[in-house]
Amino acid sequence: MGDDIFCKLYGTWREQGKILASDKSEDDGNDEDENAYSIWCVTPATVGHALLISKRHVERIEELKEAELKGFIEARVATQRRVIRALRGDSLELTNFYRDLKDNPPFPFAGELARQVLGSFSPRQRTYASFIYGENIGDAAGQSVMHAHGHIFPVTRPGQNVEEMLMRYFGMLALSEGYHPELSYSGRGETIAKNDVAEAYLSGMQVVPGHMKLELKLSAKYLSELDSGDLKKFFDLRQEACERIAPILRNDNLGFNYLEDVNQRPGVIAHLVPRERKGKGVVDMALKYQGQSVGRY
Ligand SMILES: [Zn+2]
Ligand SMILES: [Zn+2]
Repeated sequence: MGDDIFCKLYGTWREQGKILASDKSEDDGNDEDENAYSIWCVTPATVGHALLISKRHVERIEELKEAELKGFIEARVATQRRVIRALRGDSLELTNFYRDLKDNPPFPFAGELARQVLGSFSPRQRTYASFIYGENIGDAAGQSVMHAHGHIFPVTRPGQNVEEMLMRYFGMLALSEGYHPELSYSGRGETIAKNDVAEAYLSGMQVVPGHMKLELKLSAKYLSELDSGDLKKFFDLRQEACERIAPILRNDNLGFNYLEDVNQRPGVIAHLVPRERKGKGVVDMALKYQGQSVGRY
């Protein structure tokens, strides 16, 4: 167990019924062999924003074993189902959660976000079965809790996707400012790492230097279709891509934002964005993408 907030609060969340979903069936009440679970995020960027958390204390998803990884992705699928149910339900669960968060925020920013989310909440909220999934990997990428977790943002209007979100957040990198001449970007861009499950290559449009895309090479369209061995290979590849880009950018303290389109774009499933200086992470990106402005925090 670590001394971070997830390790400290898990027992309390379990007791208070705050766990939304896990990779084990939701009603058998047995959390012994659970690998991952989810809760509503207290810094909501969107209505229905959930946090997916590894049960075992590790800093990065890549440290999980095959079975734990499979459990993590299964818990993600279960969470997505749970989020859709809450959004399509009578909306009381979520309005109550955000009202309580607004009135009793654990820190002021949480209350501010709760107020905004409530303001944008409509009982007849349209829901789509797609999500943007994001992880901040490392301090420079805005990882604030050093316990492996991801953010699940429900897509709130059709067509929302990671590429558009990144372009709006970072802007497109001008050819002159930071392209590395030793790398080829034209079209599909140079391959950075590959194995028999997936390939990481430089995005043709770079939002920051070293911006990569990850593509599944198997007939599987989504991570949830991979068996545990292939899933492990996917995350090994992600790790390798991070390690290979670091010397090119000459930065040993790179962080990475990992952003995945879930249930909407088979094939190219994710973006890996190197962050050279400490900055904000995926929650801020999702917030800005919603068009909400929260000022300074
Ligand atoms: Zn922990
Ligand atoms: Zn986070």
